[in-house]
Amino acid sequence: MFALKHLQTAGAAALLVAAYCMPAAAADLATAQLKDRSGKAIGDVDLTQTPGGVLLRVSVKGLAPGEHAFHIHAVGKCEAPFDSAGGHFNPGSHKHGIVAGPGHAGDMPNLHVPQSGDLMVEVLNTAITLEKGKPNSVFDADGSALVIHAKADDYRSDPAGNAGDRIACGVVQEK
Ligand code: ZN
Repeated sequence: MFALKHLQTAGAAALLVAAYCMPAAAADLATAQLKDRSGKAIGDVDLTQTPGGVLLRVSVKGLAPGEHAFHIHAVGKCEAPFDSAGGHFNPGSHKHGIVAGPGHAGDMPNLHVPQSGDLMVEVLNTAITLEKGKPNSVFDADGSALVIHAKADDYRSDPAGNAGDRIACGVVQEK
């Protein structure tokens, strides 16, 4: 009796380990090509799933120098002027702003574009995943988009940080 119980426990533990070690189903990598309102490509974002979140490698060219808000939006559709991308990705139903509270899953730090207009930067978003089927997956039924705004995110004004126009947009796609 004892031996049987012991075996059952061991079996359950082995199953747990197997589930934990299994690679994420499909999307470990994703990409988004950023385009401005005229349809011109202005950069790319490469997304990589990590154990702690999704690493976004942002590369942009020819943006106006200064601070620009950078968010993940709820809908994977980029039709100028990009209202099509919906509001910020917000599976947790929070208010906007990383200073105001937990913020939206799509809230991220501002991009600081130098005088050259070109910027390469990496951002870790711990609130999202590329794994399909999870509530915070960017690959939900209507997809997701990355959006750069004309102004800085003030990190507190609901619903969008008072960040002004949407100047660039890219649909997140599996790689
Ligand atoms: Zn937000």
